[in-house]
Amino acid sequence: MSTENLVELVKRAGIVGAGGAGFPTHVKIDAVVDTVIVNGAECEPLLRVDQLLMDARADDMLKALEAVRTHTQAKEAIIGLKKKYGPAIETLTKKLVDYPNIRLHILENFYPAGDEQSLVYETTKRIVPEGGIPLNVNALVINVETLIGIHDIMEKNKPVTDTYVTLTGEVKHPMTVCVPLGITVREALELAGGPTITQYAVVNGGPMMGKIVDPESTITKTTKGLIVLPLDHHIVESKNRSLSKSLKDAAVACMQCNLCTEVCPRYNIGHAMEPHKLMRLAAYASTCDMTTQATNAFLCCECALCQYACVMDLQPWKFHIHLKRELSSRGIKNPHHRQPEKANEFISSLHFNVKRLISRLDLEDYDGAAPLTSIDRTFDKVKILLSQHIGAPAQPVVTVGDSVNKGDLIGEIPEGALGARIFASIPGKVTAVENGSITIQS
Ligand code: SF4
Ligand code: SF4
Repeated sequence: MSTENLVELVKRAGIVGAGGAGFPTHVKIDAVVDTVIVNGAECEPLLRVDQLLMDARADDMLKALEAVRTHTQAKEAIIGLKKKYGPAIETLTKKLVDYPNIRLHILENFYPAGDEQSLVYETTKRIVPEGGIPLNVNALVINVETLIGIHDIMEKNKPVTDTYVTLTGEVKHPMTVCVPLGITVREALELAGGPTITQYAVVNGGPMMGKIVDPESTITKTTKGLIVLPLDHHIVESKNRSLSKSLKDAAVACMQCNLCTEVCPRYNIGHAMEPHKLMRLAAYASTCDMTTQATNAFLCCECALCQYACVMDLQPWKFHIHLKRELSSRGIKNPHHRQPEKANEFISSLHFNVKRLISRLDLEDYDGAAPLTSIDRTFDKVKILLSQHIGAPAQPVVTVGDSVNKGDLIGEIPEGALGARIFASIPGKVTAVENGSITIQS
């Protein structure tokens, strides 16, 4: 494959940023930068996909990374991963002998090391401006599983039909598996022996930024982890806590101690994000500071670390999400675009250790292995969402009664829109095209 057509190839395969919001990768890599950074930090506790893939599919990842590096004309590619990912570091170190323009950057075990802007700072010491993206500092950040997807279309002509997911928490056999898109969360959990308790909630994503989902909801390109937790677990309570309760707590209990701001990754790279000041807004309807206003909430990456640094268990991040929604609904955009001159000089000593975080989150019992496991099971039915990415939903190109094979195109990017293509994940007949999804039954 020539690197000239990499963007078209990636577009054809429906590849999106795996694990994040699902930004279409063909748009992201259509750039010229001097550095490509692989986000191998996987900082959310309990998730294992990236660290396992960087070992098990190291050759595939490196081939794709070299293709992206060459395509973007980057002088260098950096794989940012944590010191504790021993097997991946060992495997990659051996293979990098053949890739003189790719190097590892070893990160300490802190959260959120995988925050895109924190990762850019850690690996290059460049600071992305407020409200900016890595491209503003000549860098492109790409996910491990996204690179595996690029490899699979380059070498196997395989579009995105599956995703890797860690199944953990209160399940019989925690594991990391590759599953077809469109199966249900319940079916995925059955692969791990199913929940071990009857009263539970399922978090889709990591414990910090993941969302509680219905077991009948479907697996998408961005599903990275499913964590089964008891209904009375602190994380479930925290995610279910209403905004009004959260605001009342802020008024009653925020003592302006500043601990939330001290750990905030965006504050520490020099952005005007000081959660303790916005808590004043929640409590007294004023930030009591001429330099901070509601729009500063746009600078929050929603990592939720502020809550776990707070001795009162308050939720600045939830208030920020609310502010962003409210401001956006009034047509107000982020007005903050300052370029910080330097990061907090004590940034590395302020990093929040993941072991400490796991203890705060009461997740120690679940922090075991979730090995990469092959599954020997076929699925009879999938419901594939037409919107699994940022941008316009895909337009169906099949109708009820059509026969499809795994890998056939079923949803196309609307003309001129930002989006990603969608493919059949099992062979069968299309039985429904409705409510933003396509159902296939074998
Ligand atoms: S850490 Fe908690 S109590 Fe302290 S300022 Fe922040 S929100 Fe308020
Ligand atoms: S969620 Fe909290 S810690 Fe994270 S960026 Fe926002 S304010 Fe900072």
